[in-house]
Amino acid sequence: MTDSDGTAFQLMLVGVAQDAGLPQVGCTCANCSAVLAGKLEAESAVSLAIIDPKGTRYWLVDATPDIRGQMALVAARFPRAQLSGILLTHAHIGHYTGLMFLGRESTNSQSMPVYASAQLCHFIRDHAPWQQLVTLGNIALHTIAPDTQTTLAEGLSFVGTHVPHRGEYSDTLAFSFHGKQDSAFYCPDIDRWSDWERDIREVVEAHTLSFLDATFFDVNELPGRDLSTIPHPLVTDTVERLAHCEKTVVLIHLNHSNALYQAGTATQWVADNGLTVGATGQSWVLE
Ligand SMILES: [Zn+2]
Ligand SMILES: [Zn+2]
Ligand SMILES: [Zn+2]
Repeated sequence: MTDSDGTAFQLMLVGVAQDAGLPQVGCTCANCSAVLAGKLEAESAVSLAIIDPKGTRYWLVDATPDIRGQMALVAARFPRAQLSGILLTHAHIGHYTGLMFLGRESTNSQSMPVYASAQLCHFIRDHAPWQQLVTLGNIALHTIAPDTQTTLAEGLSFVGTHVPHRGEYSDTLAFSFHGKQDSAFYCPDIDRWSDWERDIREVVEAHTLSFLDATFFDVNELPGRDLSTIPHPLVTDTVERLAHCEKTVVLIHLNHSNALYQAGTATQWVADNGLTVGATGQSWVLE
């Protein structure tokens, strides 16, 4: 991946936080307090914008409750880009509730393509308030067939793959995006790498760039909790599996309590092992 010469898609993080954002409501942890004191930036729920080479169209991966500011961020960087579709990973609050801003009280969009698993499409179609977006034609649902390539635009396609994750309303997908040469893997939520039938190191090595669930840094972040009950891979585990791998690994979906929000030994240790902590506004080229 090199600097864009106007022929490549761009991937831009427009948020890096776990579903509930930073600060989390009512929280007085060190990070949330730092934000309230003006010493640390607030963070939106994680989402990825994919901008076409001409800068005229873009797609969002997940529709977060922070989508207003996130679309404004894309507009500031790519003023001509129009939202051309949304891909959803699953039905937890940080990943789909931003769809509400496509409805009547907001942009009142017309047939905005929304790509989701069959289960999530059914959930949206069958349940208020989301079903109103379908009945009024604000969104057009496209069912993602798992492990099947779908073309989004000339030179850009994606594949959705199931990953194990708490699923009250829907299953959960991770996405592989494919440009002409490069590929990017996007997995904001998974219970544990070891619960997945694929080997995360092999998956990472098969992509140019991977965005991975880094909700909790280590077990000390959750005092008194049994490790086996924490439904996310700890960053310490992820780093152990992926240290010094040749591909780019970007850590996303940080819980408000995560040490990686601030400079310190945890952040340095991640960098020393060759991984990157995602930052809002950070972008990569997908050739
Ligand atoms: Zn999440
Ligand atoms: Zn907090
Ligand atoms: Zn989730």
